[in-house]
Amino acid sequence: MKSLKENFQKTHIVIIGSGIIGKFNALELSELGFQITIIDPDPHKNSSNAALGLLMGNMYQKRRGRSWDLRRQSIELWPKWVAFLQKFNYALNIEKPLIQLTTNEQNFKKLEKFVYGSYDLSLRILKRDSTLIKNINKTFQTNNIQGMISLKDGRINAFSLLKTLDIYLKDKKINFLEDQIIKIRKTKNQWISTTRNDVKIKSDIVILCNSLKAVDLIDSPIQNIKLKPVLGQAIEVDINDAEVDLLSLPKQFNINGKNIIPKSKNKLIIGSTDEYSTKPEENVFEKLTNFLDKKPNWLSKGKISKKWFGIRSRPEGEPSPVMKNLEDGLIICTGFYKNGILLAPACSKWVANEIKNYLS
Ligand SMILES: Cc1cc2nc3c(=O)[nH]c(=O)nc-3n(C[C@H](O)[C@H](O)[C@H](O)COP(=O)(O)OP(=O)(O)OC[C@H]3O[C@@H](n4cnc5c(N)ncnc54)[C@H](O)[C@@H]3O)c2cc1C
Repeated sequence: MKSLKENFQKTHIVIIGSGIIGKFNALELSELGFQITIIDPDPHKNSSNAALGLLMGNMYQKRRGRSWDLRRQSIELWPKWVAFLQKFNYALNIEKPLIQLTTNEQNFKKLEKFVYGSYDLSLRILKRDSTLIKNINKTFQTNNIQGMISLKDGRINAFSLLKTLDIYLKDKKINFLEDQIIKIRKTKNQWISTTRNDVKIKSDIVILCNSLKAVDLIDSPIQNIKLKPVLGQAIEVDINDAEVDLLSLPKQFNINGKNIIPKSKNKLIIGSTDEYSTKPEENVFEKLTNFLDKKPNWLSKGKISKKWFGIRSRPEGEPSPVMKNLEDGLIICTGFYKNGILLAPACSKWVANEIKNYLS
């Protein structure tokens, strides 16, 4: 009987889609010794390249169930993966902490109940009398912002992460094919993935990480998997006000559901929208800057210097993400309509465990 390790080295796995989920699966599985091929026709124009990279794990208020388990595992796994990936890009880093703010008294009460009830020392309440909050209120020309800080959560620059994974994959000589898979089928004991250019790739295992398009490759009515597009837009805003220094604000925070990342003294990123469409809505500045009762003057006069969007997939009739073993040697890992960057390590670990069980 072959050893497990021998099985791993001889097992060829095709990963369809090279967003963060496909690339992270490639990393996890290649470190276990598997032979990997990744296929994607457009690896740089996906929702992963649009992401802001916030890692909102430990601040998640529902501390039970699958979503919490995946978040908790990911928050534990991220520092180890970043330390590993720093061999390929020393500048890769998680900026901590993450701050969640609200102007709604009831929401703040919920935050207080959560923080005081969690007995988690990495979570703290930020009241109006704290210096940090005083400065945030002053900058946003209001007095009702308050919230919580999570010392374990933070942000990884998604673009830099994807680039680092590319360096890793190149260094490990992992096969990459810039093509689109149009069909997969199973022969007696192998999978054949056919590309638009009629290349046929044989493998023992196929992992579908191609977001919305995953359902085109399977019998989705039989599998009962439905995905709908959710478009997310983000903007970079230039402000022109000598009184305001955006760098005096925290490095990343969220106010009433909008994520904010100051980039320089007079530039900040705000994201993201949830649009149930594949065409970006026009009034994005209003949608992303109306997060307070009254917009501060400097923000009203701000100008969009850059805007971008990504289309994510949201499962219908089941929770996000969809992670299933569809049949022998066929795994689906998709439906990350939010938090795909955060959840990549825990989801790749789940996939690796499924494969280990399948081969053992
Ligand atoms: C504006 C914005 C901000 C966000 N901010 C955050 C954040 O702060 N934190 C966070 O955790 N998440 C965030 N997200 C969500 C995150 O971006 C997604 O959850 C994540 O990118 C999903 O990754 P994915 O690999 O599943 O999909 P994608 O990145 O979309 O990758 C899917 C890939 O599959 C390929 N593909 C499709 N069909 C085929 C085929 N037939 N053959 C081969 N390849 C195929 C596509 O070309 C694509 O490259 C944000 C998203 C947006 C849009």
